[in-house]
Amino acid sequence: MKVEMYKGRKLKTVKGKERGYVRHFINGVDLGRHQGNEESALTYMRNTINVIDEDDINGDRWAPEWYAPGTFEECEAGHAKKIGGECRHFTCEASASREVEPETLPVVESTLTADELHAIPRARATRLSYDWSRFGRYSVWVAEVPFFGWSVVSDYGKPGTESVVTSLRTREGCIAALAGYVRNYGDPRWGHNLTINEWEEVSTLLDARIRFEHKIH
Ligand SMILES: [Zn+2]
Repeated sequence: MKVEMYKGRKLKTVKGKERGYVRHFINGVDLGRHQGNEESALTYMRNTINVIDEDDINGDRWAPEWYAPGTFEECEAGHAKKIGGECRHFTCEASASREVEPETLPVVESTLTADELHAIPRARATRLSYDWSRFGRYSVWVAEVPFFGWSVVSDYGKPGTESVVTSLRTREGCIAALAGYVRNYGDPRWGHNLTINEWEEVSTLLDARIRFEHKIH
């Protein structure tokens, strides 16, 4: 078991029963299983927190457990928001304004490099691929997987037989994990010829969430 404080959050990992997986917790909330070891689980949580802290606490993206205690308050629906601020979670905004119309999600598909992705304001990767040493071309993407929920899927070059699902519960958490890959582009550990195969602008996320909510209710 490893426990540490990082930017005001309590991170904890414990060895899992399944070989190759550990369990990870933030501020006492179970995030489920993580593929890797305790150190890689801690790294994932630290990287995610770094991404989270780039934005204001606005109720829109991250569950309360991802924030440092005392730095936020919860809206009536339980979203973490800035102390004294308005909640910008889409369900709270919709009930306040009734102006949000579900529309067809404008999925943007393209193939571009990490540098090209960075040149697009507020764009995020949802699927990427890269060459991994002599093992071939791997793909990693964000998906809603039955029984796991929103997950990052890695195919290890064999999509039919060896895809690995890492459940991160929220779509935003998955996208943040992919952002970590993109940010580490250039580090030989992450492979070569990284290509963003699918991406979306952040402004499309609202529509994506609305469609998702309609599907699960
Ligand atoms: Zn709210």
